[in-house]
Amino acid sequence: MNGRLISARLAPPLRQAARHLHTHTPNVSSITGTRSLSHGLLSRPAQTLRIRRRWPSGANAIHNVPAVRSISFVRILPRLALKMARLPALFGASCLGAFAYVQYHATQAGTAAMEAAKRGWDSAKDVGGQWFEGGKGVFAQMGTGWERTKEQVEVPEWMRTMFEAKPESEGGSGGEGGGGGQKEAAAAAAATGAAFGIEGGDEERSGQQIARDDQMMMLTKKMIEIRTLLNTVGQSGALTLPSIVVIGSQSSGKSSVLEAIVGHEFLPKGSNMVTRRPIELTLVNTPEAKAEYGEFPALGLGKITDFSQIQRTLTDLNLAVPAEQCVTDDPIQLSIYSPNVPDLSLIDLPGYIQVVGKDQPLELKQKISDLCDKYIQPPNVILAISAADVDLANSTALRASRRVDPRGERTIGVITKMDLVDPDRGVDILTDRKYPLRLGYVGVVCKIPQQTLFSRGGNVTSAIVKNENAFFSSHPMQFGPETELNVGTPKLRKKLMTTLEQVMAASLASTRDAIVQELEEASYEFKVQYNERALSAESYLAESLDAFKHNFKAFQESFGRPEVRSMLKEVLDQKVLDLLAKRYWNKPIEDLSTIEVESNPLEKLPKADTSDPYWTRKLDASTSELTKLGIGRLATMAVATELQNQVNRLIDVSTFATHQSAQKAIKDASGTILNDRFYSTSDQVENCIKPYKFEIDVEDNEWAKGRENVHNVLKNELKACDLAKKQLEDAVGKRKLKDVTSFIERVRKGDVVLGGDVSSGAGGFSADLLERGRQAVFLSDRAAILKMRLLAIKSKQCSNKANKYHCPEIFLDVVADKLTSTAVLFLNVELLSDFYYNFPRELDLRLGKGLSEAEIERFASEDPKVKRQLDVIRKKDMLELVLQKIEGLRALEGRAKREARGEEKGAKGRWSLF
Ligand code: GDP
Ligand code: MG
Repeated sequence: MNGRLISARLAPPLRQAARHLHTHTPNVSSITGTRSLSHGLLSRPAQTLRIRRRWPSGANAIHNVPAVRSISFVRILPRLALKMARLPALFGASCLGAFAYVQYHATQAGTAAMEAAKRGWDSAKDVGGQWFEGGKGVFAQMGTGWERTKEQVEVPEWMRTMFEAKPESEGGSGGEGGGGGQKEAAAAAAATGAAFGIEGGDEERSGQQIARDDQMMMLTKKMIEIRTLLNTVGQSGALTLPSIVVIGSQSSGKSSVLEAIVGHEFLPKGSNMVTRRPIELTLVNTPEAKAEYGEFPALGLGKITDFSQIQRTLTDLNLAVPAEQCVTDDPIQLSIYSPNVPDLSLIDLPGYIQVVGKDQPLELKQKISDLCDKYIQPPNVILAISAADVDLANSTALRASRRVDPRGERTIGVITKMDLVDPDRGVDILTDRKYPLRLGYVGVVCKIPQQTLFSRGGNVTSAIVKNENAFFSSHPMQFGPETELNVGTPKLRKKLMTTLEQVMAASLASTRDAIVQELEEASYEFKVQYNERALSAESYLAESLDAFKHNFKAFQESFGRPEVRSMLKEVLDQKVLDLLAKRYWNKPIEDLSTIEVESNPLEKLPKADTSDPYWTRKLDASTSELTKLGIGRLATMAVATELQNQVNRLIDVSTFATHQSAQKAIKDASGTILNDRFYSTSDQVENCIKPYKFEIDVEDNEWAKGRENVHNVLKNELKACDLAKKQLEDAVGKRKLKDVTSFIERVRKGDVVLGGDVSSGAGGFSADLLERGRQAVFLSDRAAILKMRLLAIKSKQCSNKANKYHCPEIFLDVVADKLTSTAVLFLNVELLSDFYYNFPRELDLRLGKGLSEAEIERFASEDPKVKRQLDVIRKKDMLELVLQKIEGLRALEGRAKREARGEEKGAKGRWSLF
């Protein structure tokens, strides 16, 4: 029991009286602990940040859609240019000449040709010929043509370049301007054909239809873009645009229909309820691109070109829903980009089930039905899938749709598996009048033919269409063109595109109003709450990091070599006290027994004969222990711990205090550097203090300095001792403590003899009280010793370095001081300067350049206040962008409406561009 009282500066402060067993060991775990902190930064799972969207409580039903939308007139223009581009020989390749033709063609279309579409391609071809003849006449009017045109109509970019490239080449040679445009135009035309799933391009579509289709795709694309943008705002009910929702019983062919539309097998397959979450599918037509790929925007997996990989991912995401839950309304978002898909927004839902399986929750049927109900609300379009081989009266899809759309205004009926029933029966189903749908029924055969299974992964559209055509054309009586029945996937695609465009356009106005209102609220909040202060995740991180580095710099200036020295000296002072306590002052009170009389009591030291090895050995052993206690490790540990503590303190007062992941990154940064340098530094220090292990020369001035220093150290120890005693008195009560201490004193002198076991108390005192009494006696003894040694140090004897054996405290202090100076020399270079140099760089690496955009985003979102501000700003920006896009569409439509009104008044050609 070697008693020591004061803990070192780095150890926890003195808390209770009985801390006389303390030996100083800096907290190792704060250094070693950092070694495990080397995981990736900010690695929260991506899913937790996925924006959850709420579902719209729709406002605009499809019956708001005008029967013929005025926007259609404007569509004609660009597509005609395409048509022209495919017939270069006819047009002499003159840009302006070509445009005259387009304008003329447009005029005709605007006045008379709306009905012509019905007459089919043959008549359209003739009309086209005549139009061209007329076009020559119009050629003369070219002067004003293009200028006026481009003001009045929003012309696609490629067409602008086509016409603006060589405006001066009136009637001259066509040149590359026209040629380039033609090429692009032809490419776009081919893409349109592909998107509609029509083989062989435009042969089966009338010019007008093509024009309409083409422009329609542009508008739908823009509206889907807007819809996608709105989805990212985390919108409320009215802040969205409608989508097409696919419902149907299990195995009715929902997935097959969607795959036929996309042209790839990509949906989860299997009998065991593989669709457990809504799949929000956004199809994006990319006419210029060759590659087809999918993206899960919320997962950040990047472009996936392998559709079987998409299928696996979807399966995983679905099966991740626990079996006891079975379905959830948390949607999976998937976008597919391809030149072969139309611009569409579709939602695949879990199939209705008739009976609940053994291992499925009882309420599953209801859960699926509720989930579907949520999605089939207006203004969404319902794609109700029923299989031909199941009686339509039993179709769950139609029953559900009838509940929310009793007049059948926004439901498209799809009858799958037409090949499985007798053709006449098929006709009966398609002409069913029990539940008439304004958008009609379409019969399809979506089974993917077997042979394509060998070429898995490729586009299956043409295989499906061929297979389907083979079936329908083998029954011309039932399904031929004259029957006017809607059959085939291309028809269905087309219907989906037209319908979606219409509902989206009809919802646009109210969505816009909702956006304006939301934007006003966001702007107000931004102004009032945040004083319009701009902020981004990047700027927030950069500012936080700068502030932190600034504070670190300030600390660096306040903790240099002198500070390290005094810190280290304090640590060694404590070690010296430990040694003195162990070898000189020790008065253990291990049990309640009589004390033996010491042969060489400390009181006798001033008078001791230094030829007596008892005292010389005591000091030599103490000195040796001090120099060999592992100063290298001790000193390095002390400095490293202090650095780490200071870094932690800086974190606590910085903005990083609320960011767990950044804190970890900073602690990792300091931990890594300190760990890296730890062993080499402590080895270096240990090597350099080696000479002191053998010989120590002391100068007079060193002795004087040590004498003064150790006097202060002992004085402080005495103070701590008195304080501890006082605390003990306060805790036990002065009187009670006195009683028990005097009892213990008597036992130790032998006045009272205790027999047997005293673990449960003795002399009327409890074991606990006896223990505290022992502590009090120890503290009194220690105080007496300290006072005695303080006097000795002040004595004349101890002013002389020759009397080191009489004054061991001073000699040990001098040794500690020498060790400190040497250690500091190396610590300063090896550890401190190195740390100060590398730490800010390491921070930059881990919190600056090293972070991805998503990680910075996640970082900023960790602080709820910052997240809120960023959300408001982002929402505002996003809504502004969306509004701008909607205004663009509105301008286009508004112009078209004005033109249409003029036309209605009978002013023929009023909407004409001339
Ligand atoms: P879902 O559960 O509604 O998604 O249905 P699936 O699309 O998975 O189709 C169920 C089964 O019906 C699959 O084995 C398909 O191959 C098959 N199937 C789908 N459409 C047709 C079709 O038009 N004709 C035939 N004969 N089988 C089809
Ligand atoms: Mg399915």
